[in-house]
Amino acid sequence: MSAAIDVRGLRKSYGEKLVLDGIDLNVAEGTIFSLLGPNGAGKTTAVQILSTLITADAGEIRVAGHDLHAEPEAVRAAIGVTGQFSAVDGLLTGRENLIMMADLYHLGRREARRRADELLERFDLVEAGPKTAMTYSGGMKRRLDLAMTLVGDPRIIFLDEPTTGLDPRSRHSMWQLIRELVAGGVTVFLTTQILEEADQLADQIAVLDHGRLVAQGTPEQLKRLVPGGHIRLRFTSPEAFTLAGQVLPTAVPNHESLVLQVPNDGSVHALRALLARMDDASLEVDELTVHTPDLDDVFFAVTGQPTAHENTDEKVTSK
Ligand code: ADP
Repeated sequence: MSAAIDVRGLRKSYGEKLVLDGIDLNVAEGTIFSLLGPNGAGKTTAVQILSTLITADAGEIRVAGHDLHAEPEAVRAAIGVTGQFSAVDGLLTGRENLIMMADLYHLGRREARRRADELLERFDLVEAGPKTAMTYSGGMKRRLDLAMTLVGDPRIIFLDEPTTGLDPRSRHSMWQLIRELVAGGVTVFLTTQILEEADQLADQIAVLDHGRLVAQGTPEQLKRLVPGGHIRLRFTSPEAFTLAGQVLPTAVPNHESLVLQVPNDGSVHALRALLARMDDASLEVDELTVHTPDLDDVFFAVTGQPTAHENTDEKVTSK
């Protein structure tokens, strides 16, 4: 598969501060790539470089098959960028926003209207089309923003935190739109603070920390990096709890809550084996819960920081 984005040895400093310290990335065409990382890791800087807004200090970078340094115009023609701070003009209607964008691409009057109506339809904004964008909900504004990015028919789209601040329903409808884009052959480069978003959407994830890539792989590969999978067994009788502790010597006991935490990958096979051992010892388990590692565990393991959700406020104020 050919690469939509290929980066070798990307470096960027601001004065004394090294922001990107030799990054290698490869994004296959028609896939979703997610760049994750705590606040200040260098995500925005990376997107700004790849979308030609600022220049790198070093590195070989190809976007949509073009050398970023030698052919920035060709790169620009192939990409779309949807930022956190939307390009939507609140005083114009949704339809007017789209037509204004089409004008920037010199589509011509008739084609501009046709394109605007097609996008309103596709993004479930037909009814909202004649209304001014400032009356739109957060989810509608994000959809309009993404629709505006698509006016230029980009092959590669950079999405910077596309669902931050949206309610779960709007978030899910945005995810669906992103999946449809990719099904149509578009490549998506996504930055997000929402780990579930990367888990839901990304084919490949790279975790950036202090300007270096500290982990890279599919969501499943990354989850396998952290152990942490376990089963919790809760007992009502202290005798059963003690006996179970002897039957399962690898379990970590919590004497107060009568809970045993048993290392386990959560597979059906491993679960059956565990229950069979309980049965053999005639032990009654009161409650059983399976904990499989998720991306939060990965994030914590590779960056040493709790999940980025908790840093959201900090991110807003520090910028
Ligand atoms: P992220 O998007 O992961 O939060 P950024 O790419 O915004 O991270 O920032 C990475 C680091 O670079 C931060 O320490 C930030 O302060 C610094 N930085 C970003 N832009 C500039 C700039 N224009 N001048 C100086 N330092 C900057």
